[in-house]
Amino acid sequence: MEPFSRFGANGLGTDQPQLSLAYLPPTPRQTWSALAVAAVLLLGLGVLAPVAGKPVPHVNGFIPAIDATIFLTDFITACLLLADFSITRSRALLALACGYLTSSLIVAVHGLSFPGAFSPTGNLGGSSQTTIRLYLFWHLGFPAAVFAYVWLRDSDRAKAGSHAPTSLVAVCSVAGIFALVGLFVWLAAAGDALLPTALVDPSHAGPVVLWLIALTMLICAAALSVLWVFRRSVLDLWLMVVVLASIVELAITALFGGTRFTLGFYTGRVFSLVTSTVVLTLLLAETSRLYGRLTHANMLAGAVKASQALSSKIELPNLIEQMMKIVLANADADRGLLILPSEGEYLIQAKARMIGDQIEVTIGQTPITGITCPESLVRHVIRTQECVILNDAFSNQFSGDEYLSDQQSKSVLCLPLIKQGELAGILLIENTRTLHAFTSARISVLELLAAQAAISLENTRLYNDLYEREAKIRRLVDSNIIGILIIDLDGRIIEANDAFLRMVRYDREDLISGRMHWTDSPPKWRGGDEQRVEMVKTIGTLQAFEKEYFRKDGSRVPVLVGVERIEETKNQAVAFVIDLTEQKRAEAALRDAELRNIEAQMLLAHANRIATIGELAASLAHEVNHPIGATLMNAETALRWLAASPPNLDNTRRLIGRIIADSKRAADIVGRIRDFAKKAPARKEALEINDIVSGVVGLTRSETSTNGVLVETRLTGGLPSIWADPVQLQQVVLNLIVNAIEAMSEVGEESRRLLISTEAESDGILITISDSGPGLPQADPERIFEAFYTTKASGLGMGLSICRSIIEAHGGRLWATPNEPHGAVFHLMLPNGEEIT
Ligand code: ADP
Repeated sequence: MEPFSRFGANGLGTDQPQLSLAYLPPTPRQTWSALAVAAVLLLGLGVLAPVAGKPVPHVNGFIPAIDATIFLTDFITACLLLADFSITRSRALLALACGYLTSSLIVAVHGLSFPGAFSPTGNLGGSSQTTIRLYLFWHLGFPAAVFAYVWLRDSDRAKAGSHAPTSLVAVCSVAGIFALVGLFVWLAAAGDALLPTALVDPSHAGPVVLWLIALTMLICAAALSVLWVFRRSVLDLWLMVVVLASIVELAITALFGGTRFTLGFYTGRVFSLVTSTVVLTLLLAETSRLYGRLTHANMLAGAVKASQALSSKIELPNLIEQMMKIVLANADADRGLLILPSEGEYLIQAKARMIGDQIEVTIGQTPITGITCPESLVRHVIRTQECVILNDAFSNQFSGDEYLSDQQSKSVLCLPLIKQGELAGILLIENTRTLHAFTSARISVLELLAAQAAISLENTRLYNDLYEREAKIRRLVDSNIIGILIIDLDGRIIEANDAFLRMVRYDREDLISGRMHWTDSPPKWRGGDEQRVEMVKTIGTLQAFEKEYFRKDGSRVPVLVGVERIEETKNQAVAFVIDLTEQKRAEAALRDAELRNIEAQMLLAHANRIATIGELAASLAHEVNHPIGATLMNAETALRWLAASPPNLDNTRRLIGRIIADSKRAADIVGRIRDFAKKAPARKEALEINDIVSGVVGLTRSETSTNGVLVETRLTGGLPSIWADPVQLQQVVLNLIVNAIEAMSEVGEESRRLLISTEAESDGILITISDSGPGLPQADPERIFEAFYTTKASGLGMGLSICRSIIEAHGGRLWATPNEPHGAVFHLMLPNGEEIT
């Protein structure tokens, strides 16, 4: 079990100055060392006890030599403790320093006053009793200091905030000690009247001395007990050893009866020396330990500063340069390489070397080869991700490496830069001057730097990625091609680019003042806003939709809007707004053009109808003339029948019936011509195609008979009705019949045949008009449908082209094929019923 386990556990806690020996708990090793010394002391006492009084030859120089040594060690100890006090402000340490100072001063005087040392009776002009009295003062002073030390140490906590200047306190204390020691010396030298006689003769102590020694031992034992009870620190531990040594020394002195120049006399002084050197040794050891820690702390502080410098770099070349400089400076290296992954392979990204006291860094990519770096070592570290230290570059597992022998490296360190378990890079540093250049302290600092470097490299990469993305977005926003808004889902526009502001003719001040809302649309467009907000909240995105915004002047701007929620904010979204004004204008213009085109087509079709009717004018006049002539003749005959006596009323009635029928026939023809010639907008209705065909055949009857054309119709009954404009459809059929009659005028009258048929097809109704004319142009039969293609002297070449556009506008098709043995067949396909639009 740990014999001093109360140390530490009962320590003063972390709020006390942990660097002070008065508060640092002892390590187990220190505890065992102190116990060993204590055991040696007690063993020494046991060994010396039987022989302490044995006389030994006089050595006059012994006491001055020992006292001088003790004076020096006690004095240095006092100085060190005072220095400790000046840092920690611990009054306990000040008390101890005063104790050591008292000791050192009394010892000095003791040496001077010792009879036979410098003069036969001592140097102070005192009596033969002076030295022994000084000896007792000396041994009483130290336990007194120990009591003060223990007492003040606890009150140090309470007075931790005291601000009295330490130098003043120290000077006053030292002055007090000098005064006290002066008093002791005076008492020792001139106090014969006040103090009892200690020595019965110059070499032998009287019984009073023995009593005083016993009392001093008791006081020391009390000090030892107090230290034991209140033990806390490594200093307490060694003070116990010191007090024990003092007790042992006093015991030996008592054992040899205070007689000078006995074995006990001499060895007792050796114990005094132990008493004096223990704390000094401890202080010196602790000082060197603290110095080591300070050096390490300084290196760590440098590394932390360097880390901060690294973490502030966001551009890769700057970061690499800074990193290499810091590493070389902190590692005591004169060459360095940084190897980073790049597109699946590792490349040397930077080289650094020491030139004089400057570090030169070259940045540029170089492949890993046996010439550029110790390749086998680097590949090993890439593979294992473990740090490799070559304290002697010539004798190790990589000593066969070409680079290491060529470049005369002495110490090499290859450090992996690990970030979240991933190898972020490799740092290789070399020292060409010394073996074992990379001490464990430096390596721990470098590891700290390596960790920071890995983080900084990763951060730089992330920053660059972010920067590039941000730059792309910024370019989009700044390009001002489309309006971009940052909106909150409550209706506020938080940010908008210039393109949007231009679109709605607001300025930035309006935006900043919060006057603008993305919900400020005409009422017609507001309806879906709530629903859209819900969609953005739930789905996070909105398909582009059209709406209108009010401009600042109250006019409206048509826009296309797309919305995407900003994931990080939940209540905010980015909206992309495209101005549709131009598009809408173009659409309106297109609609107008289409309307005008339709109108023009109508006009053209109308002109074509008039022209076609014009061509039939003679036949039609004849057609109308015929009933009118018959009417006239019947009317004259009827008059005659009426003038007869008695009037023949039956015949007259029959003739008037014929007159009515002929008049109707004439009115019917005129009505049809009028309908055909009038300029009316297209109007579709359900039609029986056979009626249309029959009507047109009737209209052209006179023309066909004049031209000797034999007309045959094969109209299939029960055809479904079609959805079409009757006038336009008549126009097409009429045009095709007139063309056929005209074409057949080129062939002999005996072979002029016109066949008109209607039939049902799977996808509609087919009307075919076949003639026995000369037929279509063989090279390119389709040419006849081109506008302005004509073979007639007075032709316009517009008829067939208009017919095709009429049929296509009805969702149908018009095409021509050759007839057998000669002639042409025109096919007119019309879709059924309601499907026609
Ligand atoms: P136009 O009758 O004013 O010439 P169309 O567009 O009606 O204009 O006819 C174009 C041309 O197609 C005619 O000039 C003629 O050469 C040819 N064509 C039209 N119908 C027939 C037909 N049934 N047989 C042979 N050629 C025809």
